[in-house]
Amino acid sequence: MSGTTPLRFDIITIFPGFFQGPFDFGMVRQAVRKNLVSVGIHNLRDQASDRHLTVDDRPFGGGEGMVFKPEPLFQAVNSVAAQDLSFPARRIVLLSAQGRRLTQETVRELADCRQLILICGRYEGVDERVTDHLATDEISIGDYVLSGGELAACVLIECIVRMVPGVLHNRCSSLNESFSRAAATTGQGNRIQEPAILDHPQYTRPESFQGLDVPRLLLSGDHGKIRLWRRRKALEKTLRNRPDLLEYGCLSEEDKRLLETEFEG
Ligand code: SAM
Repeated sequence: MSGTTPLRFDIITIFPGFFQGPFDFGMVRQAVRKNLVSVGIHNLRDQASDRHLTVDDRPFGGGEGMVFKPEPLFQAVNSVAAQDLSFPARRIVLLSAQGRRLTQETVRELADCRQLILICGRYEGVDERVTDHLATDEISIGDYVLSGGELAACVLIECIVRMVPGVLHNRCSSLNESFSRAAATTGQGNRIQEPAILDHPQYTRPESFQGLDVPRLLLSGDHGKIRLWRRRKALEKTLRNRPDLLEYGCLSEEDKRLLETEFEG
């Protein structure tokens, strides 16, 4: 994001009331208060042209359910795209189960925009002309079907806001989180694409809870060893829960050695 212009989110929905609450807590609320982010909610029905405020119709070719018509969506986007911005500063995101799956990499990319217009579908979805000729991105938050795009929009906003400079107190906390990627070098000095692994396990007080002890090494004060232990645990957890992540990059020599190292405690 450039300068001090807040990153702007504009959400287009038939349920504006849905967003009373999700942005009133935690990081998004702080980001809005610090003027790093601003959020506008727009009722798609304001763009309807009949007295019933119709924004959907039956699908051509037959089939169950209703589909959002293109006209109200094109009008809604045009009305919030008043500022003179174009791609990539402005992205128009259609939340959709058919979109590309959201990853931390996409989150980082979207956090560089100045305005994100989010279209929340309902029913059977939206007319494909919106996907093809209005949206710049079609994004799914996972391989499952929600009843509407509103929750997906909240997920997307929450992830992006954490990436906006000035939002997290400690910039390092986003660099060390799950799915962050560190640069690595092979034994021959070549830079390699490190896999984006999961975060390491965390513990806090008490040291012993119902006979379950915190790993002793974490109490040792030996920060060098703690760093290596954490990396090892993060790698183990990734291998156990998300082996697919490790397919997209190669482990550094140090990581390979770490996986063979025995740690006390
Ligand atoms: N007929 C569509 C399909 O099978 O792909 C599902 C439509 S769904 C019931 C209604 C709306 O929920 C979609 O238009 C989209 O906006 C939203 N939605 C559902 N699943 C989603 C997901 N995984 N990610 C993002 N948005 C989703």
